[in-house]
Amino acid sequence: MTLDSRPEVLSLAAFTTAHSHAFQRAMRGKTQRPGPVPEDDFWTWREAMYAVVEGLTPERIEAVAREAFRELHDAGVRTVGEFHYVHHARGGVPYDDRNELAHRVIRAALDSGLRISLLRSVYERAGHGRSLVAGQDRFVDKSLDESLRAIDDLIGSYAGDDRVRIGIAPHSTRAVHPASWRELVSFARNRSLPFHVHVAEQPREIAECIEETGKRPLELLSDEGALSERFVVVHGTHLLPHEAVLLGEHRAFVCMCATTERDLGDGLPDLGALRSNGVRLCTGIDSHVVCDPFEDMRALETHERLRTRKRVAAARVGHPAKELWASASTEGAEACGFLGEGPMLSARTDHPFFAFVDHGDELDALVFSGTRALDGLFS
Ligand SMILES: [Zn+2]
Repeated sequence: MTLDSRPEVLSLAAFTTAHSHAFQRAMRGKTQRPGPVPEDDFWTWREAMYAVVEGLTPERIEAVAREAFRELHDAGVRTVGEFHYVHHARGGVPYDDRNELAHRVIRAALDSGLRISLLRSVYERAGHGRSLVAGQDRFVDKSLDESLRAIDDLIGSYAGDDRVRIGIAPHSTRAVHPASWRELVSFARNRSLPFHVHVAEQPREIAECIEETGKRPLELLSDEGALSERFVVVHGTHLLPHEAVLLGEHRAFVCMCATTERDLGDGLPDLGALRSNGVRLCTGIDSHVVCDPFEDMRALETHERLRTRKRVAAARVGHPAKELWASASTEGAEACGFLGEGPMLSARTDHPFFAFVDHGDELDALVFSGTRALDGLFS
């Protein structure tokens, strides 16, 4: 019998999912069979997503968000970054309150016990020289001024609520006019807003950006002054090493959404380049295809092992499990605009999960072997 000094509970920062599209919870099971075209890819998945958008009423958006957020809360998540891009009724007609849908999503999160950063998207076009397809008109405001006014209204509505942050989320370099970035950047800077953008998820959007502007998406954003400590690249799957340097110089974030990226066949990012340049990493559930923050967290390590065919790819010094837990909790919260102390979780160390786990290895065990299905783990 050894002296066991294992504490009864492990106190851990609660999970954050820094990139979510809650309405996509309604797509579960819908896109896993061969589609009408021989080549299923991200872009055919997107068509299915637009079909779901077409059928969303305000009531349904709120109901789906409630279910998505309840699942996240049950899994140990207490902070969500909701990249919110369905703003209007069908045909692009604004609701009487133009932030109706944002308010509903925020209410759903708060009622589910989550803090929320509502990352209000700006979506101007289908792409350079492309016209909007069905569904996309619900994302587009009449002008950039209107988008920014809607964000200011949201900031005003939740100014006194500590559980809510408002951020700006220009959707991508595909969906925003190159000429709009300057104004978006200065608007965000003047208000110290989190600034989230989908960047380099798909090779096609990179090729199109180069064709239109002569620059890759991240190069364009860097030249427009977007990079900062509040800048969050969502995905970053196909970034190049010099882009990792640019992000690291600004202590910017990359939010990896591993379970969704896997589902969509996006590819594997070079996390080694991001880490070695000081880019901060966080995690997101994105499409809600899998609701397990443990999976999104450890993929920051295990996907890199698959890519590099090496073990222990994260922090080469110190304690990788600590680094990974921070990415999936406090770093994500900061990327969403929540600084300082946040919600905590208590993991019961008398749970059968910890049987035969040596004292001192509990966090490693949780990070690399835990799942959301551990009933009764968190008290
Ligand atoms: Zn996304």
